[in-house]
Amino acid sequence: MIFSCDVLSCSNSPKYYCKCKVQYSFLCSNHALQHLDDNENSDHALKSMFRPIPQEKKAFIIDMCTHVIEDLKKIEKNISNSFQRAIIILNEQKAALDKYFREQKESLQHIINKITNENKEIFVPGFSVQEEYQSNYSCLLQFFAEKINSKTDNFVQNIQAYSEKIQEKKEIFTYYLDFRGNANLDEHLYGFKRGTKTFIMFNTLTLSINKTELNIDINQGSLACLCQIPNNKLFYLGGINLINQDHTRTPTINI
Ligand SMILES: [Zn+2]
Ligand SMILES: [Zn+2]
Repeated sequence: MIFSCDVLSCSNSPKYYCKCKVQYSFLCSNHALQHLDDNENSDHALKSMFRPIPQEKKAFIIDMCTHVIEDLKKIEKNISNSFQRAIIILNEQKAALDKYFREQKESLQHIINKITNENKEIFVPGFSVQEEYQSNYSCLLQFFAEKINSKTDNFVQNIQAYSEKIQEKKEIFTYYLDFRGNANLDEHLYGFKRGTKTFIMFNTLTLSINKTELNIDINQGSLACLCQIPNNKLFYLGGINLINQDHTRTPTINI
């Protein structure tokens, strides 16, 4: 649930609601009686927030959740594989660079040891060691190292940002009932497949589409006017490409 008992210190889920004030009061079982005692002059209408779920709706929710679980498994595996690939590549590159720097340091140490012990330098006619080159080489390495650091920082920050966005959606299916605002809006977009009786319900939380063939008299147009009306109904009027529409037969749809 996205909301808790109205008593400030209480984090329990509410079980009852009351319309004795301008705004609904939501109360857990521990505080329902307190609400009556604290507002004894009010005209209370304490009601349960729960009702038996119709068999059809129960089956629909179970089916929907089952599908989403399957989707979650695939997405989780996909992300896990992606992380595994990244970890393997990063480990490989780290090992390769460790080896490269180890060899470079050993090579330089070898030069130091050689000239220290032997007091000689290599001399080949036409060939000379350029100290300047060694210095430029260090600068170049430093440049690439900073690039790697910067790319790694960006990479990690991006991964963190997207990972946090996923985790922010902790409750995918929130029972969102905006009693304080417009009680008739839910998380769906509604419409008909143009020129058919196929009613389409797009869930903006799960991004899933549900299609239902409705038992209505006439095929429906698209881009119609619609609004949700009390008692879980949808009023649907007009639409493009609707020939000979009879507005008196515009469907009111149970949702
Ligand atoms: Zn409470
Ligand atoms: Zn009340």
